[in-house]
Amino acid sequence: MCAGWPLVRWAGLRKTHEWTITYYGLRSLLPENVDVIAGPGCPVCVVPARDIDEAVWLALNGITVATFGDMYRAPGSTISLAEARARGGDVRVVYSVQDAIRMARREPDRELVFFAIGFSTTAPTNAVSVLEGLPGNFSLLVSHRLIPPVMELLLGIGELEIDGFIAPGHVATVIGAKPFRLFPDAYGMPTVIAGFEPLDVLFAILYVIRQLREGGAWLENEYTRSVTELGNVRAQKAIRAVFEVNDGHWRGLGRIPKSALELKERFRRYDARERYDIDVGTGHDVHPGCSCHLIVTGRMKPVECPLFKTGCRPDHPLGPCMVSREGTCYIWARYGTRKADFSKPRLPPH
Ligand code: SF4
Repeated sequence: MCAGWPLVRWAGLRKTHEWTITYYGLRSLLPENVDVIAGPGCPVCVVPARDIDEAVWLALNGITVATFGDMYRAPGSTISLAEARARGGDVRVVYSVQDAIRMARREPDRELVFFAIGFSTTAPTNAVSVLEGLPGNFSLLVSHRLIPPVMELLLGIGELEIDGFIAPGHVATVIGAKPFRLFPDAYGMPTVIAGFEPLDVLFAILYVIRQLREGGAWLENEYTRSVTELGNVRAQKAIRAVFEVNDGHWRGLGRIPKSALELKERFRRYDARERYDIDVGTGHDVHPGCSCHLIVTGRMKPVECPLFKTGCRPDHPLGPCMVSREGTCYIWARYGTRKADFSKPRLPPH
């Protein structure tokens, strides 16, 4: 049998690997020497506090800020966008950038900024919107991040024992399997791209263990029903046309080389940071007592945080990992005690 092989997995969009593992109690099926831990795949959790501060500044200075629901409640250095709204700021929750653009067109006398967060999964829609042309009263506060560079960062954290990656199927659907070949080829790390159903994740764990048993490392694509070698080439083309890759700050993780998307020079007129003299400080990512920076890098489990489900709960979150439904603390607080039970259907909640 395999001996002492912790696996690192990845969380992603609304239905994440961590959500699937916890909601369906998949850890209860694993032998004791296999551990599955969450990585920095919650897009809300990794948005730097300073970027949230910028959105808050805009909202408190007469600009309408549109954002996704989870981002609305994520704390910046001092307050969240929800608190900015309570103080009189015009903050609106939207489901897409198109919603925000429609609002801007309906209200031409109002300046509107869309807070554009997320990975390669959300960037293409924003890129296409820019290419199609945006209303004059509309701009973007861009905080897009890229997954492969942060996976490389994890490999440099000495205290983490990573024996394999379960890579995010939705990101790979866009960028293709190819960028993930780096991990087996350059780092000797077994890597499996996986979907988000319970069987996807169980197969991915099995495939990683199989590679470890065989003493090799290669890329396997478990999610062939969605992921191809080259990915969605049209989406990549739109991203490349609008954004350039730069170093980026990740909340609690610091600056990671070539991990962020920024608007290219010719689209800077749509950049809220160029349009407004946003005046915020350096930002405080880590709130006293909160260890989200350790949670998102797999160095701590939510139950090891003294505030978990006591001072910090889904209805009273202290850190972004408890705010977002994709955050590991939130998922563990809601479903963390479950054991696998396939005797009856367990339908996902809405
Ligand atoms: Fe932060 Fe709350 Fe998670 Fe603790 S339980 S790490 S305070 S979000």
